[in-house]
Amino acid sequence: MKPNIYYAHQDVVPVDNSTLDEWEYPPFSGYYDGTYVWGRGSLDDKHMIVGMLQSVEYILENEPDFQPNRTLLLAFGADEEISGNYGSAYISEVLYERYGQNGIYSFIDEGGNAVANLNGVWIASPATGEKGFMNLEVTIDYAGGHSSVPPDHTSIGIAAMMINAIEEQLFPPMFTPANPVTEYFQCMAEYSEVLPATLKSDFANAYKSSISNKRVIDYLTKLGGKTFEYLLRTSQAVDVINGGIKANALPESTNFVVNTRIAVESTVNATLTKITANVAEVAQLLNLSLFIDGTRVTNGTTSGRVSINTITTLEPAPVSPENAVWDQFAGTIKSYFEDVAFPGSTNYTDVDLVIAPSIMNANTDSRHYWNLTSNIYRFQPSFMNAKLVANIHSADEHFDADNLMHIFGFFYDYLHVLSSQEE
Ligand SMILES: [Zn+2]
Repeated sequence: MKPNIYYAHQDVVPVDNSTLDEWEYPPFSGYYDGTYVWGRGSLDDKHMIVGMLQSVEYILENEPDFQPNRTLLLAFGADEEISGNYGSAYISEVLYERYGQNGIYSFIDEGGNAVANLNGVWIASPATGEKGFMNLEVTIDYAGGHSSVPPDHTSIGIAAMMINAIEEQLFPPMFTPANPVTEYFQCMAEYSEVLPATLKSDFANAYKSSISNKRVIDYLTKLGGKTFEYLLRTSQAVDVINGGIKANALPESTNFVVNTRIAVESTVNATLTKITANVAEVAQLLNLSLFIDGTRVTNGTTSGRVSINTITTLEPAPVSPENAVWDQFAGTIKSYFEDVAFPGSTNYTDVDLVIAPSIMNANTDSRHYWNLTSNIYRFQPSFMNAKLVANIHSADEHFDADNLMHIFGFFYDYLHVLSSQEE
């Protein structure tokens, strides 16, 4: 039988020394105050490592007759926060040599998607997809000289025009069956008792009617702000700019970096085409030559030159199918939370937990494992606490022990489900 993988990353983002005063307890103390564990990594991603290891340790200690039918692999990367090129890249290579293409049963990784309540519906939403990614740099080389006789636009001014063109045209929001998160929202609408009937019908008809589709997008954008909006569209952010050295010298070269997170429905190429069109529009207006990744695309009549260079690219992740492996994973979430977590940790009994797929706006190390399995689930088996989530990668990161126990409990259950499975 194919083995399955519990995956987490050991590394954390650094602590900014200037924020040390803002920590309730020192960031590397791991202090437990009886309710919370405090420290960098407590919610990204040490809690997952601890829960996974604890589930195994508990079985080793207490269940001497345990004989798994299916092997469990524990894989812990060491540089997820900087792309996993030295950790997961090598782990996956070893696993590929050992098990081959699609040789792994399922891969469970961190995910921002814990159990939450939306419009009165309790939903667990493992991410079965992930947006793509592209960083590109635009460089404008233009006339230098003394600033007392400048051209109408300096290279900095041209960069500003280009950035304006990029920001004036946002990527379109989409609500299509290709994006797993639309199923999550449709499930919410179907089970919600507080949503108006008209909106429920808009959700149900969103793939068929363009009017319903637009109303659904408008509603979600209003409800969840940018967080929901960017589950549905490609994002673009100009994050770095460099140009100019002196007040009396014209800037001969200016460059800026655009970071995009690519919608599940889109591609690196389509994203590059849109940004290129925005830049080319300005280049054409000012008669500048345009180069993309070193290749001349248009000839300008002036000596100015614009170069677009892609720095890093990643296509959106393949979406994990809703097959028998998914049903089994979803079923384990449902039974653990309904039978153990809700009665133990909340006042809600008799909850009918809905399980629906979702996506991640950011990327995890799971990108290194695409060729090992199509069953990749990014999920944090705990209750969502927006206040705690706000401290990830920031000062005062902490996590509650109650939820830590749910991570342990879920991984214990899933291990038993997989281990007792007959072929
Ligand atoms: Zn993480």
